[in-house]
Amino acid sequence: SQDFGGLKVLVTGGASGIGRATAELLAARGAQVAVLDLNPEALKDGDTPLLAYRADVTDDASVREAVTAAVADLGGLDVLVNNAGIGAQGTVEDNDDDEWHRVLDVNVVGMVRTTRAALPHLRASDRAAIVNTCSIAATAGLPQRALYSATKGAVYSLTLAMAADHVREGIRVNCVNPGTADTPWVGRLLDATDDPAAERAALEARQPTGRLVSADEVAGAIAYLASPLSGATTGTALAVDGGMQGL
Ligand code: NAD
Repeated sequence: SQDFGGLKVLVTGGASGIGRATAELLAARGAQVAVLDLNPEALKDGDTPLLAYRADVTDDASVREAVTAAVADLGGLDVLVNNAGIGAQGTVEDNDDDEWHRVLDVNVVGMVRTTRAALPHLRASDRAAIVNTCSIAATAGLPQRALYSATKGAVYSLTLAMAADHVREGIRVNCVNPGTADTPWVGRLLDATDDPAAERAALEARQPTGRLVSADEVAGAIAYLASPLSGATTGTALAVDGGMQGL
């Protein structure tokens, strides 16, 4: 459609889960989409042709190289979707300093690196937007998620600060706050339990909707915030949590 046609988009962590659903949704609607991921070969089994670049968001040189290559192949950049992220479980007593630095480096500083590399290109766009994948963990006070929640709280604050810094340049910055989304990540967590089917049923029962959020539903929210459809929206968090926080 007009809102997505020709939109030049880079999605980090776009080879799996929410990032992949976002890349495929936007490409299906006429956007030109490039994926930056640690593991781009995971895209090979898909039907949607996507540009793919290997990079690690904790390695500044690899990020700069991949962004430069993606922008050259796309012929510019309108949208950065900062989605790459990893999980961590436990209370503050369960993760040591190295683990804190490692997860903060991916989930927070990783977004800073990709954003720094993308900003000069976004400034040249007349429909520039950044969408960060945050989480309900940013504000929900979830048990056993101290480190993960702290990284997502930082992503939320970073979203607001970036929105303020770049609004005059015409760059909008928003985030999505998914609840529990049915992605390979959550599949891996369930598979690590003694009874994955029972754990999944219990997880679903805790959702107001009785089911998990789908990756496509999160992708829909990201696509909205990425496109001129949300042209007057910046500095907001859009919950995609099946009512988890609001009800
Ligand atoms: P996923 O594990 O299915 O996909 C994550 C992708 O990021 C993978 O392709 C992985 O290779 C890539 N990645 C990880 N570390 C990277 C790095 N250092 N550099 C480059 N790429 C890297 O996970 P998902 O569930 O789709 O999660 C995506 C985002 O959504 C994350 O930021 C996560 O925190 C957020 N989120 C997920 C949920 C959920 O329930 N699944 C809920 C809220 C927020």
